[in-house]
Amino acid sequence: MGASEYWNPKTETLGRDDLAGLQLAKLRRMCQWAAARSPFYQRSFREAGFEPGQLRSLDDLQRLPLLDRDQWMASQRERPPFGLLLVAGREAAVRWHTTSGTTGREPIRVLDSAKDWAWQAEMWCYGLWGFGVRPSDTAYVAFGYGSFIGFWGLHYGMEKMGVLNVPGGAQPTENRVRQILDFGATVVASTPTYALRLAQEAARLGVDLASSPVGRLILSGEPAGSIPQTKALIERLWGAKAGDTAGMTEIGTIMIFECARQPGGTHIIEDHFIEEVIDPLTLRPVGYGEQGERVVTSFGRGIIPLLRYRTADLVCKVPSSRCSCGRGFDLYDGGILGRVDDMKLVRGTNVYPRAVEAIVREFPGIEEFQLRLTREDVFDRITLRAEPAAGVDEAAWAEMAERLAKALAETHEGLRFEVERAAPGELPRFELKARRTVDLRDKPIGG
Ligand SMILES: [Zn+2]
Repeated sequence: MGASEYWNPKTETLGRDDLAGLQLAKLRRMCQWAAARSPFYQRSFREAGFEPGQLRSLDDLQRLPLLDRDQWMASQRERPPFGLLLVAGREAAVRWHTTSGTTGREPIRVLDSAKDWAWQAEMWCYGLWGFGVRPSDTAYVAFGYGSFIGFWGLHYGMEKMGVLNVPGGAQPTENRVRQILDFGATVVASTPTYALRLAQEAARLGVDLASSPVGRLILSGEPAGSIPQTKALIERLWGAKAGDTAGMTEIGTIMIFECARQPGGTHIIEDHFIEEVIDPLTLRPVGYGEQGERVVTSFGRGIIPLLRYRTADLVCKVPSSRCSCGRGFDLYDGGILGRVDDMKLVRGTNVYPRAVEAIVREFPGIEEFQLRLTREDVFDRITLRAEPAAGVDEAAWAEMAERLAKALAETHEGLRFEVERAAPGELPRFELKARRTVDLRDKPIGG
């Protein structure tokens, strides 16, 4: 251990009481800032009968109204294009980003000042340093560098740390595999899905990634970075350690990261965020070890104060003592567990996409998959469409499909999954935010 294990030893090793004191001071300042400048919070504070002067302890956080995405979207429609949360307009900003827009719904639009952007890079430094990235590394960032905020913050975090940084840009996967080798990358950053895709492409090219200098993968963008089976598969294919992180456009950066000790969870950067976990129905806080919805309060982004934002992420908080690294920061056990509305009910059985993925990743011969829910009359059907690697013949497939169906039924109270073989390249490939569950039950047949 020692100070060199932490990016910011002073705050990362604070005791819980000191940490709470720091959070309270930042919370007061953020609420005053929002009350003075943000039309949205001026209205919502008034409606809730809240004034920043009421904040005497962290428990008073409960007096603040919750904020959700629908409210944010409504405010964007009320005052396009950025909405009413912001305390300043485009003249104050240096960057304009949006959510990924993969769902086809209206994206959240965000603005950041130069100061905000420096803070966003700083948050990534906590995670990168904490997982063991050092200035002597060469980092390859397998990311399209578009208007989606994604790995932009990681890029700047790497620069801030003095890491040699290779922007992977928009290009075919094959080229990226070659560049990772040509540049001698020791660190690769991508989504978990794309880390697998790069490994599959390398195998096709006859490249042995496990013997390359890559020693660390920084995963972000999808909950799968903390699914043990997915992570184990990625680590085996790359011969490298994989560290999970998670962030969101609404805060502009990451709020959790896995430290080098990898205790099975991700530390919350608690000197810059207050992370609450609530019951999504009663909105009451839940305790350590209980699953609930993440609610984030972020202190770093000046243009967009974010107070008690409901994320719809499903998490389970555990105390900092779970990890041996000495950080005072609590953790999310298993990272982001999924979305609170992820759960599918099929013929009376709960199906979680995360649990299905964990099973599929036990079958490394499967390159991509999709979970499809359909309804015939009143009967729900659940089908796992799996795309095996090119070399898998019919006999091997039949055997694999049978084992897969058995494993899925065993973990789902005997629910029968139909397992179908998809043609090579048939299923969608994802660079960002994989969407593998397709629920067609409320759609007309053929629609
Ligand atoms: Zn730790």
